[in-house]
Amino acid sequence: MSLTGKRAIVTGSNSGIGLGIARELAKAGAEVVLNSFTDSEEDHALAEELAAETGASVRYIRADLSQGEEARALVEAAGGCDILVNNAGIQHVAKIEEFPVAKWDAIIAINLSSAFHTSAMALPGMKERGWGRIINVASAHGLTASPYKSAYVAAKHGIVGLTKTTALEVAGQGITANAICPGYVLTPLVEAQIPDQMKTHGMDRETVIREVMLERQPSRQFATVEELGGTAVFLCSEAAKQITGTTISVDGGWTAL
Ligand code: NAD
Repeated sequence: MSLTGKRAIVTGSNSGIGLGIARELAKAGAEVVLNSFTDSEEDHALAEELAAETGASVRYIRADLSQGEEARALVEAAGGCDILVNNAGIQHVAKIEEFPVAKWDAIIAINLSSAFHTSAMALPGMKERGWGRIINVASAHGLTASPYKSAYVAAKHGIVGLTKTTALEVAGQGITANAICPGYVLTPLVEAQIPDQMKTHGMDRETVIREVMLERQPSRQFATVEELGGTAVFLCSEAAKQITGTTISVDGGWTAL
């Protein structure tokens, strides 16, 4: 599968799932734009490392996606894109009546509104070229709910709705829009929680993963960032050109329960 000649923007891609997706797209030959809200030496070094590792052209562009204008400016600074992966996301856990308003606003802005802004900027170029792929990273929480995650669940359900609407607006024009819905994914952030969970529950690594962390994931196995990257590459393939306006769960059976 060759994505040579295609430019991909992956939002929130200096770590975790975004970086995993960016790596697989670069390995498939796409030119890649990495993004986060920071502008550190590490961010730019990461782009250089990914370029050296994959042979692809990789740039890092800073944009704080909690700000609509910055989300729009990201696509402009990249020079448009053929593949847009809206991945940036944050989480906060609290009862609705105690949920900080600023956290609610930030989660809706970063996890949902930023995808509206980047899509609005990317679509005209995709239409002109008659080819495009929009991949929104939602979550099992785009399809089901959990208590205390009101903003996250609302934003993730919202992005599934945005995905469907986007797909309908461009159907038949060579552009698809889909949402990937991961279950629990082994990212550095999740890995870092394991020692604490082991201590809290007095369990070994395997038991705490199986019995506590993956309690809702029937496979009792984490999804990996490589698997999510592979799913994104598949959605960019010719074989996936009639797959649009839908969700692909990568959740070990979570949403089948
Ligand atoms: P992560 O914290 O490693 O990555 C989040 C990325 O978003 C980082 O690169 C971060 O810098 C970026 N980001 C945060 N705020 C930003 C802002 N204001 N502007 C620009 N970038 C910003 O977490 P992750 O687990 O890799 O999550 C990536 C996506 O996958 C999120 O949308 C998350 O909701 C979703 N997801 C994760 C899991 C999981 O188990 N890890 C499961 C389902 C869905």
